[in-house]
Amino acid sequence: MSEFSLIDRYFSQATHLRTDVIAGIGDDAAILQLADGQQLVAATDTLVAGVHFPEQTPADAIGHKALAVNLSDLAAMGATPAWALLALTLPGEDPQWLAGFVEGFSGLAQQFDLSLVGGDTTRGPLTITVQLLGYLPAGSALTRSGAKPGDRIFVTGKLGDAALGLRAVQSPPGANISSEQAESMKTLVKRLNYPQPRVAAGQAIRALASSAIDISDGLLADLGHILAASGVGARLPRHQLPRSESFITFSEIADADPESAWNRVLSGGDDYELCFTIAEDRAAALLALDWSSCNGITEVGSITAGNRLEVIDESGELLPRIGEQAQGYDHFSS
Ligand code: ADP
Ligand code: MG
Repeated sequence: MSEFSLIDRYFSQATHLRTDVIAGIGDDAAILQLADGQQLVAATDTLVAGVHFPEQTPADAIGHKALAVNLSDLAAMGATPAWALLALTLPGEDPQWLAGFVEGFSGLAQQFDLSLVGGDTTRGPLTITVQLLGYLPAGSALTRSGAKPGDRIFVTGKLGDAALGLRAVQSPPGANISSEQAESMKTLVKRLNYPQPRVAAGQAIRALASSAIDISDGLLADLGHILAASGVGARLPRHQLPRSESFITFSEIADADPESAWNRVLSGGDDYELCFTIAEDRAAALLALDWSSCNGITEVGSITAGNRLEVIDESGELLPRIGEQAQGYDHFSS
């Protein structure tokens, strides 16, 4: 199949066309109409096979996740996603894989009323880059730099599920696990492979939060970015961190001790929840909103003056060497 018939067959009809798409796939570039008073918000993220997902990951999960990680970036800005470009490097032509990939991609695109408006297709080691464009009212974006001492820190959903799911995929448990543990494992692997970007939550907090970030590299690393950008510190009582039932159940067999389980919650990547800060006098308005679509929100700590990220345990003791754990995943560290 030629490059052109491949594009035609799999991508031209992958999503519906929004009315603000003046020209989509088929010309040299897409033309998109931004409404008056809106700013363009753009993000891109690449997934490399074997680095960002295990080689055996189902094709539809890869399609879903390639888009989800970018949706999560736009969610963290409070933006409405609208248009995507897809640069795909494929080792070969595998119709079954391509059909699965497009199914995962399109399903999520439809959920968020997104149009795929262009891309590029090349041959090489499996690599997927999505560029996502969206918009928000001019001047209303959430950034990393607005946190102030005294602000309360919240996260959406639960933390550590994806990291524990990855652990389950990489070193599967023996056959003698209980059915409850097997169910939990399935849920965790689903959280790893099909993250649900918190787009609605990002829009809901846009007028309330003082700063926001999405948690891709672990809470400590990503909250660390807010602290650095805002010039503040934070205090996190770790027992307040939200863990799912599946996490608690499966962690009993996967984690050697409670310490390693807590480290997964603090530093595990790939959850794509939002972490945000909010001034005390706005918290009541925040808590009055319906958060069921993102599995609830949880207060995890507070912003402090200074620049230290302090994590305290159940007995109020400061945990040592948290700074090292806060680094998260870094592609260029050796
Ligand atoms: P050019 O040579 O001008 O870069 P291409 O031959 O790469 O154009 O692509 C032809 C059209 O198909 C363009 O509109 C491009 O945006 C689109 N396209 C190519 N690959 C993809 C893809 N993987 N997903 C979506 N659109 C794609
Ligand atoms: Mg090209």
